[in-house]
Amino acid sequence: MNCYFHTDQVAVATCQDCGIGLCKECASKYTPALCSECAGKRERAAQKDYEKAKQEHLQSAKDAFLKPIIFGSVVAGIVIVLGLVTCIITGEWSIFTTMLSIAVTAFFMRFGWNLSSFAAFSDNSNVMVGIISIVLRIALSFILGIPAFFWTLYKYRKEVEWNKNIDKM
Ligand SMILES: [Zn+2]
Ligand SMILES: [Zn+2]
Repeated sequence: MNCYFHTDQVAVATCQDCGIGLCKECASKYTPALCSECAGKRERAAQKDYEKAKQEHLQSAKDAFLKPIIFGSVVAGIVIVLGLVTCIITGEWSIFTTMLSIAVTAFFMRFGWNLSSFAAFSDNSNVMVGIISIVLRIALSFILGIPAFFWTLYKYRKEVEWNKNIDKM
């Protein structure tokens, strides 16, 4: 068999992907031996995989930050609406500030809940352990809420930055 590109040259290898003959010069261009067309195809496929992995990476960081925001906003919104309705019905507006602070706390607690996942030691055989775990996590969510929000924001920002700079490296 002769080289597909140089018909006067004896083939020393075949393209790993399409099987055409390659002479010494053509075979040495790529490792493993590939014709230029198949090498190009492989490169484009690798580029596509890389872009996809990058997108998935960014998406998971986005989810970690945006999902608790959406969830927290919904809970906070419900608390505020309930508070407003209660105030209108009772005419007692002093409880509104309490409801507002509950809404703000509820918003941040969702971040604390995610961050305190290490305290989620559930044991199906023991209900008490499960209850203690949940109580502990709620307490931790309360304490860690605001720092957890900033920590998640920081991590998200870093992820976006990393994703932007990775191609320049
Ligand atoms: Zn080929
Ligand atoms: Zn050749």
